[in-house]
Amino acid sequence: MRPSDPIFRQSRLSACLGAASVAVAIAVSLHATPARAQGPLMPYSAFLPNGDDEGKRQAAWVLYQGAEREARTFAPGRWIPVVGVLYSSADRGAADWSANTRLIHMQDKYDATTLFHEVFHPAFHNSEFNPRPFDRDNAWNEAFCNAFRYYAEKELLPAQTDWARKFDRIATMSQAEGLGNGDNRMRKYVYPAALVIKRAGGQRGSMDTFRTMWFELIAMRRQRGAPVLDEVFGFSPPG
Ligand SMILES: [Zn+2]
Repeated sequence: MRPSDPIFRQSRLSACLGAASVAVAIAVSLHATPARAQGPLMPYSAFLPNGDDEGKRQAAWVLYQGAEREARTFAPGRWIPVVGVLYSSADRGAADWSANTRLIHMQDKYDATTLFHEVFHPAFHNSEFNPRPFDRDNAWNEAFCNAFRYYAEKELLPAQTDWARKFDRIATMSQAEGLGNGDNRMRKYVYPAALVIKRAGGQRGSMDTFRTMWFELIAMRRQRGAPVLDEVFGFSPPG
């Protein structure tokens, strides 16, 4: 199902309207099985069952489904189903996806856009950018998850967030400026994500231009039989 389809539009609109209409949208979107999906989506009962705000949960579910549908298209024949999404305890990191449990955890102070990053981890993890043994392309996993979140936000939210705007700003800066304090977060999660987003078109780009770039980069890697991302983006995130 494309984002321009009426059913998807209804889900997107309902996310802004509140719990009652969201419930209707959930029923509609669960009924529509996109042709390109591989494997079933987790049941609603596995999605954030341990919170105390049902309205927030339902709105997040609509957005999560939209993001997972997109993430699956980056991993044709390779998608690893997410089996559950849970709120984690405060002593855990902000959010994470585990290849072993196939669960996403996040702290309940965050919202559904945090899940957009996490739901791309299964796509990257089983892609050709993540071979065994690892090579340099693997170091780009967090950057691509943030780039996916940027384009999922563009696709699914009514307006750009401050989180996304930051990447547009960094894309106009020199490397030294864009790296800011140069800590691990900036070198692995932020600056290289700005490079990926910029190459896919930034504000003028879309989920489609990002996806096209992804498959072009995979084709380039296949052709060379070697990592390509450091060279293409002119940067080396920490591994
Ligand atoms: Zn991550």
